[in-house]
Amino acid sequence: MVTKGLKLRIYPNKQQRQQLAQNFGCARFVWNQMLAMLEERHENNPKASFLTAYALNNLLPLLKKEHPFLKEAESTSLQVTNQHLIDAFHAFFKKEKGHPKFKAKHAFKQSYTSKFVKGNIQPVGHHGIRLPKLGILRFKAGQRLSETIRQVTLSRTPTGKYFAVLTVEGENQAFPKTGQTIGCDLGVKDLLIGSVEDLRSPTTHFDQGLARKLRLWQRKLARRQQLAKKAIAWDHHQKVPVPRILADFKNVTKARLQVALIHEKIANQRMDKLHKLTTELVKTYDRIALENLRTKNLLRNHALARAIVNQAWGELRRLLIYKCAWYGKELKLVNPYKTSQICSTCGHDDGKKPLNVREWTCPQCGTHHDRDVNAAKNIERLAFG
Ligand SMILES: [Zn+2]
Repeated sequence: MVTKGLKLRIYPNKQQRQQLAQNFGCARFVWNQMLAMLEERHENNPKASFLTAYALNNLLPLLKKEHPFLKEAESTSLQVTNQHLIDAFHAFFKKEKGHPKFKAKHAFKQSYTSKFVKGNIQPVGHHGIRLPKLGILRFKAGQRLSETIRQVTLSRTPTGKYFAVLTVEGENQAFPKTGQTIGCDLGVKDLLIGSVEDLRSPTTHFDQGLARKLRLWQRKLARRQQLAKKAIAWDHHQKVPVPRILADFKNVTKARLQVALIHEKIANQRMDKLHKLTTELVKTYDRIALENLRTKNLLRNHALARAIVNQAWGELRRLLIYKCAWYGKELKLVNPYKTSQICSTCGHDDGKKPLNVREWTCPQCGTHHDRDVNAAKNIERLAFG
């Protein structure tokens, strides 16, 4: 049995949208309450052992009594919120992520997750899914949900679209075996370089048109926000009965929506390419070796370029891990230590190579190497011998 994520665009009706908004609010409320409690607890007694999600769940009835609106929320979702909060702290302790933050009311993305308990989540025909508190939600994909659904994450994007990400469990849908093996090096200019057949997948850069549009709307947004803030300050000065807030300014809201839409388009383009690349790899190769990212800290690029590349590496790895599991292929993550300086033909260690050295010739066996392809070959050898 393997699990995978399945993303569906859903089309809630008006009542369902209200229920969703309420549940987003409840999940956010529980997150913030529990986070405040954990922080206070730590302040009072820094040596107190860290609580488990189970301990937080035991506090939920009390919280519900104190704040009766929480009773309207789908109950498993509040438990999942506790779990997510504890997970976030563990990631923070392991220095993988920053300190968990309080969630603002107008957060970029709103979501909550329901767990499967006693048949509360059920597919209905080809275009529907029954969810606790919401009833049947319609989706368009038209794929039969034959697998067991373990949980559902419902979300609303800043552009007002709704999605359900299902975590499903099912049998391996194995791709046919090909007997092929590949090693993959990750790079900046080329996102992925393979050890065979000159496989090179260039890093997706911003669509130039979209990048220009994004800059334009970001500037507009900044300017409009500034003007609105001035107007709000003026309200305060005049002591008007109901001072306006930023959301009252239609042109600010419109600019914010435009920025979110462009971000969404760019993200979709990038994910599209990553999906195609990873599916192709998993179809073509039975065994895939990928360099492990944690040890690679070579980027001294402009901050934005670095963020884009880091994100692409992370996504690529995440997709490969789940697709290999799902389609019955083998993935090995390899520490890339010295992979760019050892000759993949004879094993000679030629010493550190600065990043600008893209090609070199091995003094021992005379093989001429492309830096990245050589690294990919070493990664393949380290993983599979
Ligand atoms: Zn050599």
